[in-house]
Amino acid sequence: MIKKYYLLSPGPTPVPSSVLSAAAEPIIHHRTAEFSKIFMEVTEGLKYVFGTKEDVYVLTSSGTGAMEAAVANLCSPGDQVLTINAGKFGERWGNICKAYGVINKDIVLKWGTVLPKEALEAELKANPAVKAVFATLSETSAGQIFDIQGFGEVVAKTPAVLVVDGISGLGATPCPMDEWNVDLLLTGAQKSFMIPPGLAYLACSPKAWKLVETAKCQKFYFDLKKARKNLEKQTTPWTPGVTLIIQQKKALEIIREMGLEKLYVHHRVLGDATRAGIKALGLELLAERPGNILTAVKTPAGIDGVKLVKTMQNKYMAYIAGAQDPHKGEFFRIAHLGYMGGFDIITALTALEMTLTDLGYPVVAGASIKAAEPILRENWA
Ligand SMILES: *Cc1c(COP(=O)(O)O)cnc(C)c1O
Repeated sequence: MIKKYYLLSPGPTPVPSSVLSAAAEPIIHHRTAEFSKIFMEVTEGLKYVFGTKEDVYVLTSSGTGAMEAAVANLCSPGDQVLTINAGKFGERWGNICKAYGVINKDIVLKWGTVLPKEALEAELKANPAVKAVFATLSETSAGQIFDIQGFGEVVAKTPAVLVVDGISGLGATPCPMDEWNVDLLLTGAQKSFMIPPGLAYLACSPKAWKLVETAKCQKFYFDLKKARKNLEKQTTPWTPGVTLIIQQKKALEIIREMGLEKLYVHHRVLGDATRAGIKALGLELLAERPGNILTAVKTPAGIDGVKLVKTMQNKYMAYIAGAQDPHKGEFFRIAHLGYMGGFDIITALTALEMTLTDLGYPVVAGASIKAAEPILRENWA
Protein backbone atom coordinates (compact mmCIF):
# COMPACT_ATOMS: atom_id res chain seq x y z
CA MET A 1 0.00 0.00 0.00
CA ILE A 2 1.07 3.55 -0.56
CA LYS A 3 2.27 5.08 2.70
CA LYS A 4 -0.60 7.33 3.61
CA TYR A 5 -0.34 8.83 7.07
CA TYR A 6 -3.45 9.02 9.29
CA LEU A 7 -2.94 11.30 12.28
CA LEU A 8 -5.42 10.14 14.92
CA SER A 9 -3.62 11.28 18.06
CA PRO A 10 -4.84 13.75 20.69
CA GLY A 11 -2.19 16.30 19.75
CA PRO A 12 -0.77 17.26 17.49
CA THR A 13 -3.92 16.99 15.41
CA PRO A 14 -4.59 17.40 11.67
CA VAL A 15 -4.48 20.95 10.30
CA PRO A 16 -6.97 22.19 7.65
CA SER A 17 -5.43 22.94 4.25
CA SER A 18 -6.32 26.67 4.37
CA VAL A 19 -4.42 26.86 7.66
CA LEU A 20 -1.45 24.93 6.27
CA SER A 21 -1.16 27.12 3.20
CA ALA A 22 -1.27 30.29 5.33
CA ALA A 23 2.21 29.27 6.53
CA ALA A 24 3.59 29.46 2.99
CA GLU A 25 3.29 33.27 2.86
CA PRO A 26 6.43 35.42 3.22
CA ILE A 27 7.34 36.25 6.84
CA ILE A 28 6.18 39.64 8.05
CA HIS A 29 7.87 41.61 10.81
CA HIS A 30 6.22 41.44 14.21
CA ARG A 31 6.70 45.13 15.09
CA THR A 32 4.42 46.39 12.33
CA ALA A 33 0.86 47.63 12.06
CA GLU A 34 0.17 44.78 9.67
CA PHE A 35 1.13 42.16 12.23
CA SER A 36 -0.55 43.97 15.14
CA LYS A 37 -3.85 43.89 13.28
CA ILE A 38 -3.62 40.13 12.81
CA PHE A 39 -2.45 39.66 16.39
CA MET A 40 -5.38 41.61 17.82
CA GLU A 41 -7.85 39.68 15.67
CA VAL A 42 -6.40 36.48 17.09
CA THR A 43 -6.66 37.66 20.70
CA GLU A 44 -10.29 38.67 20.06
CA GLY A 45 -11.06 35.27 18.55
CA LEU A 46 -9.43 33.58 21.53
CA LYS A 47 -11.66 35.54 23.93
CA TYR A 48 -14.63 34.03 22.14
CA VAL A 49 -13.36 30.47 22.58
CA PHE A 50 -12.30 31.12 26.20
CA GLY A 51 -15.70 32.67 26.99
CA THR A 52 -14.12 35.65 28.66
CA LYS A 53 -14.10 39.43 28.68
CA GLU A 54 -10.50 39.32 29.92
CA ASP A 55 -7.52 39.57 27.61
CA VAL A 56 -6.06 36.33 26.32
CA TYR A 57 -2.26 36.21 26.07
CA VAL A 58 -0.40 34.41 23.33
CA LEU A 59 2.75 32.62 24.49
CA THR A 60 5.20 31.15 22.03
CA SER A 61 5.70 27.78 23.69
CA SER A 62 3.96 24.45 23.88
CA GLY A 63 1.07 24.09 26.31
CA THR A 64 3.35 23.19 29.22
CA GLY A 65 4.86 26.67 28.96
CA ALA A 66 1.47 28.15 29.84
CA MET A 67 1.19 25.71 32.77
CA GLU A 68 4.58 26.86 34.01
CA ALA A 69 3.53 30.50 33.50
CA ALA A 70 0.44 29.88 35.63
CA VAL A 71 2.44 28.54 38.58
CA ALA A 72 5.23 31.11 38.31
CA ASN A 73 2.87 34.08 38.03
CA LEU A 74 0.31 33.11 40.68
CA CYS A 75 2.51 31.66 43.39
CA SER A 76 5.36 32.45 45.75
CA PRO A 77 7.79 29.83 47.07
CA GLY A 78 6.25 28.19 50.14
CA ASP A 79 2.65 28.82 49.06
CA GLN A 80 0.19 26.01 49.65
CA VAL A 81 -1.86 24.80 46.70
CA LEU A 82 -3.96 21.79 45.67
CA THR A 83 -3.17 19.79 42.56
CA ILE A 84 -5.69 17.31 41.16
CA ASN A 85 -3.82 14.35 39.74
CA ALA A 86 -5.76 11.69 37.84
CA GLY A 87 -3.38 11.25 34.91
CA LYS A 88 -0.13 12.39 33.35
CA PHE A 89 -1.13 16.02 32.96
CA GLY A 90 -2.65 16.45 36.39
CA GLU A 91 0.59 14.97 37.71
CA ARG A 92 2.50 17.63 35.76
CA TRP A 93 0.90 20.37 37.85
CA GLY A 94 2.56 18.90 40.92
CA ASN A 95 5.91 18.59 39.18
CA ILE A 96 5.86 22.23 38.11
CA CYS A 97 4.89 23.34 41.63
CA LYS A 98 7.83 21.39 43.05
CA ALA A 99 10.22 23.03 40.58
CA TYR A 100 9.09 26.44 41.90
CA GLY A 101 9.18 25.59 45.59
CA VAL A 102 5.39 25.72 45.82
CA ILE A 103 3.97 23.23 48.32
CA ASN A 104 1.29 21.19 46.62
CA LYS A 105 -1.06 18.81 48.30
CA ASP A 106 -1.46 16.30 45.51
CA ILE A 107 -4.92 14.76 45.33
CA VAL A 108 -3.94 11.51 43.66
CA LEU A 109 -6.72 9.61 41.95
CA LYS A 110 -6.78 6.54 39.76
CA TRP A 111 -6.14 7.41 36.10
CA GLY A 112 -9.41 7.99 34.29
CA THR A 113 -11.41 8.87 37.41
CA VAL A 114 -12.68 12.30 38.43
CA LEU A 115 -12.93 14.30 41.65
CA PRO A 116 -16.50 15.19 42.71
CA LYS A 117 -16.92 18.89 43.52
CA GLU A 118 -17.98 17.95 47.06
CA ALA A 119 -14.59 16.31 47.60
CA LEU A 120 -12.84 19.47 46.42
CA GLU A 121 -15.01 21.52 48.77
CA ALA A 122 -13.96 19.30 51.68
CA GLU A 123 -10.27 19.64 50.74
CA LEU A 124 -10.58 23.41 50.68
CA LYS A 125 -12.32 23.42 54.08
CA ALA A 126 -9.58 21.23 55.53
CA ASN A 127 -6.82 23.36 53.98
CA PRO A 128 -7.90 26.99 54.34
CA ALA A 129 -4.41 28.34 53.54
CA VAL A 130 -4.60 27.02 49.97
CA LYS A 131 -4.03 29.80 47.45
CA ALA A 132 -4.78 27.98 44.24
CA VAL A 133 -6.39 24.81 42.90
CA PHE A 134 -4.73 23.36 39.81
CA ALA A 135 -7.13 21.28 37.72
CA THR A 136 -7.52 19.84 34.23
CA LEU A 137 -10.52 20.11 31.91
CA SER A 138 -9.82 17.09 29.71
CA GLU A 139 -7.19 14.71 31.11
CA THR A 140 -5.75 13.74 27.75
CA SER A 141 -3.67 10.89 29.14
CA ALA A 142 -6.76 8.94 30.22
CA GLY A 143 -9.76 10.49 28.46
CA GLN A 144 -11.92 11.70 31.36
CA ILE A 145 -13.46 15.14 31.69
CA PHE A 146 -13.69 17.01 34.97
CA ASP A 147 -16.61 18.99 36.37
CA ILE A 148 -14.96 22.39 35.99
CA GLN A 149 -18.28 24.17 36.41
CA GLY A 150 -18.70 22.46 39.79
CA PHE A 151 -15.11 23.25 40.78
CA GLY A 152 -15.76 26.89 39.88
CA GLU A 153 -18.81 27.05 42.16
CA VAL A 154 -16.82 25.64 45.05
CA VAL A 155 -13.59 27.60 44.62
CA ALA A 156 -15.37 30.93 44.02
CA LYS A 157 -16.63 30.80 47.63
CA THR A 158 -13.05 30.72 48.95
CA PRO A 159 -10.05 33.06 48.68
CA ALA A 160 -8.31 30.51 46.39
CA VAL A 161 -8.13 30.77 42.62
CA LEU A 162 -9.12 28.01 40.19
CA VAL A 163 -6.52 27.28 37.52
CA VAL A 164 -7.57 25.05 34.63
CA ASP A 165 -5.38 23.30 32.09
CA GLY A 166 -7.72 23.39 29.10
CA ILE A 167 -5.22 21.85 26.68
CA SER A 168 -7.08 19.46 24.34
CA GLY A 169 -10.48 20.22 25.91
CA LEU A 170 -10.96 23.91 25.31
CA GLY A 171 -12.59 24.47 21.94
CA ALA A 172 -14.00 20.93 21.85
CA THR A 173 -16.04 20.85 25.04
CA PRO A 174 -17.62 23.74 26.97
CA CYS A 175 -15.53 25.66 29.51
CA PRO A 176 -16.78 29.26 29.49
CA MET A 177 -14.20 30.92 31.73
CA ASP A 178 -16.20 33.84 33.11
CA GLU A 179 -19.48 32.00 33.54
CA TRP A 180 -17.84 29.06 35.30
CA ASN A 181 -15.61 31.17 37.58
CA VAL A 182 -12.33 29.90 36.23
CA ASP A 183 -9.56 32.27 37.36
CA LEU A 184 -6.80 31.20 35.05
CA LEU A 185 -7.56 29.24 31.91
CA LEU A 186 -4.86 28.08 29.55
CA THR A 187 -4.51 25.94 26.48
CA GLY A 188 -2.14 24.86 23.73
CA ALA A 189 -2.78 25.38 20.04
CA GLN A 190 -1.91 21.99 18.52
CA LYS A 191 -4.98 20.15 19.78
CA SER A 192 -8.45 21.66 19.42
CA PHE A 193 -7.20 24.92 17.91
CA MET A 194 -6.23 23.24 14.64
CA ILE A 195 -2.74 24.66 14.08
CA PRO A 196 0.74 23.10 14.28
CA PRO A 197 2.48 22.94 17.70
CA GLY A 198 4.16 26.04 19.13
CA LEU A 199 1.64 28.40 20.71
CA ALA A 200 -0.10 28.50 24.09
CA TYR A 201 -2.87 30.79 25.30
CA LEU A 202 -3.71 32.03 28.78
CA ALA A 203 -6.19 34.39 30.45
CA CYS A 204 -6.58 35.60 34.05
CA SER A 205 -9.63 36.76 36.01
CA PRO A 206 -9.36 39.91 38.19
CA LYS A 207 -8.99 37.58 41.21
CA ALA A 208 -6.02 35.90 39.53
CA TRP A 209 -4.44 39.23 38.57
CA LYS A 210 -4.44 40.18 42.28
CA LEU A 211 -2.21 37.17 42.96
CA VAL A 212 -0.02 37.98 39.97
CA GLU A 213 0.69 41.39 41.52
CA THR A 214 2.29 39.85 44.62
CA ALA A 215 3.60 36.46 43.42
CA LYS A 216 7.31 36.06 44.06
CA CYS A 217 8.31 33.00 42.03
CA GLN A 218 11.19 33.80 39.69
CA LYS A 219 10.30 34.26 36.03
CA PHE A 220 11.40 36.19 33.02
CA TYR A 221 10.17 34.88 29.65
CA PHE A 222 6.74 34.01 31.04
CA ASP A 223 6.25 37.18 33.12
CA LEU A 224 2.55 37.96 32.62
CA LYS A 225 2.97 41.57 33.73
CA LYS A 226 5.31 42.07 30.79
CA ALA A 227 2.78 40.37 28.52
CA ARG A 228 0.01 42.65 29.81
CA LYS A 229 2.07 45.80 29.29
CA ASN A 230 2.90 44.76 25.76
CA LEU A 231 -0.62 43.78 24.85
CA GLU A 232 -1.66 47.36 25.63
CA LYS A 233 0.65 48.25 22.72
CA GLN A 234 -0.89 45.45 20.63
CA THR A 235 2.26 43.37 20.75
CA THR A 236 4.17 40.73 22.71
CA PRO A 237 7.31 41.15 24.86
CA TRP A 238 9.37 38.78 22.70
CA THR A 239 9.31 37.71 19.06
CA PRO A 240 6.09 35.71 18.79
CA GLY A 241 5.51 32.70 16.54
CA VAL A 242 4.46 35.00 13.70
CA THR A 243 3.57 32.27 11.23
CA LEU A 244 1.63 30.27 13.79
CA ILE A 245 -0.36 33.34 14.78
CA ILE A 246 -1.26 33.93 11.14
CA GLN A 247 -2.32 30.29 10.95
CA GLN A 248 -4.36 30.68 14.13
CA LYS A 249 -6.22 33.58 12.56
CA LYS A 250 -7.29 31.26 9.73
CA ALA A 251 -8.26 28.46 12.10
CA LEU A 252 -10.23 30.84 14.33
CA GLU A 253 -12.19 31.91 11.25
CA ILE A 254 -13.21 28.28 10.77
CA ILE A 255 -14.15 27.99 14.46
CA ARG A 256 -16.17 31.22 14.45
CA GLU A 257 -17.95 30.37 11.24
CA MET A 258 -19.09 27.07 12.65
CA GLY A 259 -19.77 28.47 16.12
CA LEU A 260 -18.80 26.91 19.44
CA GLU A 261 -22.17 25.26 20.07
CA LYS A 262 -22.02 23.35 16.79
CA LEU A 263 -18.40 22.49 17.39
CA TYR A 264 -19.31 20.94 20.74
CA VAL A 265 -22.11 18.93 19.12
CA HIS A 266 -19.69 17.79 16.42
CA HIS A 267 -17.25 16.49 19.04
CA ARG A 268 -20.07 14.81 20.92
CA VAL A 269 -21.19 12.94 17.80
CA LEU A 270 -17.63 11.79 17.10
CA GLY A 271 -17.29 10.73 20.74
CA ASP A 272 -20.62 8.86 20.71
CA ALA A 273 -19.74 7.08 17.48
CA THR A 274 -16.30 6.06 18.74
CA ARG A 275 -17.62 4.78 22.05
CA ALA A 276 -20.38 2.80 20.29
CA GLY A 277 -17.81 1.25 17.95
CA ILE A 278 -15.51 0.31 20.81
CA LYS A 279 -18.32 -1.28 22.83
CA ALA A 280 -19.47 -3.24 19.78
CA LEU A 281 -16.02 -4.86 19.73
CA GLY A 282 -16.52 -5.94 23.34
CA LEU A 283 -13.84 -3.53 24.52
CA GLU A 284 -14.01 -1.37 27.64
CA LEU A 285 -13.51 2.35 28.13
CA LEU A 286 -10.96 3.54 30.68
CA ALA A 287 -12.57 6.81 31.75
CA GLU A 288 -15.43 6.91 34.23
CA ARG A 289 -16.63 10.22 32.74
CA PRO A 290 -15.38 10.07 29.14
CA GLY A 291 -14.93 13.34 27.32
CA ASN A 292 -15.64 13.88 23.64
CA ILE A 293 -12.02 14.75 22.93
CA LEU A 294 -10.54 11.29 22.86
CA THR A 295 -11.50 7.75 23.81
CA ALA A 296 -9.16 5.71 25.98
CA VAL A 297 -9.75 1.96 25.56
CA LYS A 298 -8.49 -0.78 27.85
CA THR A 299 -6.25 -3.27 26.06
CA PRO A 300 -8.13 -6.60 25.98
CA ALA A 301 -6.70 -9.49 28.00
CA GLY A 302 -4.07 -11.49 26.14
CA ILE A 303 -3.12 -8.64 23.80
CA ASP A 304 0.13 -6.68 24.07
CA GLY A 305 -0.99 -3.04 24.14
CA VAL A 306 2.35 -1.65 23.02
CA LYS A 307 2.35 -4.03 20.04
CA LEU A 308 -1.22 -3.03 19.21
CA VAL A 309 -0.31 0.66 18.93
CA LYS A 310 2.94 -0.13 17.07
CA THR A 311 1.07 -2.32 14.56
CA MET A 312 -1.52 0.36 13.95
CA GLN A 313 1.22 2.92 13.43
CA ASN A 314 3.80 0.88 11.54
CA LYS A 315 1.63 -1.35 9.39
CA TYR A 316 -1.47 0.78 8.84
CA MET A 317 0.08 4.21 9.53
CA ALA A 318 -2.89 5.00 11.75
CA TYR A 319 -1.30 7.12 14.48
CA ILE A 320 -3.42 6.57 17.52
CA ALA A 321 -1.71 7.10 20.89
CA GLY A 322 -0.66 4.52 23.43
CA ALA A 323 -0.79 4.88 27.19
CA GLN A 324 1.95 6.85 28.90
CA ASP A 325 4.10 5.65 31.80
CA PRO A 326 3.42 4.06 34.25
CA HIS A 327 0.48 2.52 32.37
CA LYS A 328 2.24 1.66 29.10
CA GLY A 329 0.39 -1.01 27.18
CA GLU A 330 -2.62 -1.04 29.49
CA PHE A 331 -4.80 1.05 27.20
CA PHE A 332 -4.71 3.05 23.97
CA ARG A 333 -6.24 6.35 22.90
CA ILE A 334 -8.24 7.25 19.79
CA ALA A 335 -8.54 10.98 19.27
CA HIS A 336 -11.52 12.86 17.88
CA LEU A 337 -10.70 16.51 18.40
CA GLY A 338 -9.86 19.50 16.28
CA TYR A 339 -9.93 19.08 12.53
CA MET A 340 -11.29 15.55 12.49
CA GLY A 341 -14.41 14.40 10.68
CA GLY A 342 -16.79 11.47 10.80
CA PHE A 343 -14.74 9.37 8.40
CA ASP A 344 -11.70 9.70 10.63
CA ILE A 345 -13.65 7.66 13.17
CA ILE A 346 -14.35 5.00 10.53
CA THR A 347 -10.66 4.94 9.66
CA ALA A 348 -9.62 4.59 13.30
CA LEU A 349 -12.13 1.84 14.04
CA THR A 350 -11.32 -0.11 10.87
CA ALA A 351 -7.58 0.10 11.53
CA LEU A 352 -8.25 -1.08 15.08
CA GLU A 353 -10.33 -4.04 13.89
CA MET A 354 -7.67 -5.06 11.37
CA THR A 355 -4.95 -4.75 14.00
CA LEU A 356 -6.89 -6.82 16.53
CA THR A 357 -7.36 -9.50 13.87
CA ASP A 358 -3.62 -9.44 13.13
CA LEU A 359 -2.88 -9.93 16.81
CA GLY A 360 -5.27 -12.86 17.11
CA TYR A 361 -8.08 -11.14 18.99
CA PRO A 362 -11.46 -12.30 17.69
CA VAL A 363 -13.45 -9.52 16.01
CA VAL A 364 -16.24 -9.67 13.45
CA ALA A 365 -15.02 -7.46 10.63
CA GLY A 366 -17.16 -4.32 10.46
CA ALA A 367 -18.81 -4.79 13.87
CA SER A 368 -17.59 -1.44 15.17
CA ILE A 369 -18.56 0.35 11.96
CA LYS A 370 -22.04 -1.13 12.13
CA ALA A 371 -22.46 0.52 15.53
CA ALA A 372 -20.74 3.82 14.71
CA GLU A 373 -22.09 4.49 11.24
CA PRO A 374 -25.76 5.16 12.12
CA ILE A 375 -24.67 7.66 14.80
CA LEU A 376 -22.56 9.51 12.27
CA ARG A 377 -25.16 9.35 9.51
CA GLU A 378 -28.11 10.46 11.63
CA ASN A 379 -26.17 13.38 13.09
CA TRP A 380 -24.29 14.41 9.95
CA ALA A 381 -25.20 18.08 9.84
C1 LIG B 1 -1.02 17.99 25.56
C2 LIG B 1 -1.36 18.37 26.94
C3 LIG B 1 -0.43 19.01 27.76
C4 LIG B 1 0.99 19.25 27.34
O1 LIG B 1 1.05 20.17 26.33
P1 LIG B 1 2.40 20.36 25.48
O2 LIG B 1 1.89 21.23 24.39
O3 LIG B 1 2.85 19.01 25.04
O4 LIG B 1 3.37 21.04 26.34
C5 LIG B 1 -0.83 19.37 29.03
N1 LIG B 1 -2.07 19.14 29.47
C6 LIG B 1 -3.00 18.52 28.70
C7 LIG B 1 -4.35 18.28 29.26
C8 LIG B 1 -2.66 18.11 27.41
O5 LIG B 1 -3.57 17.52 26.65
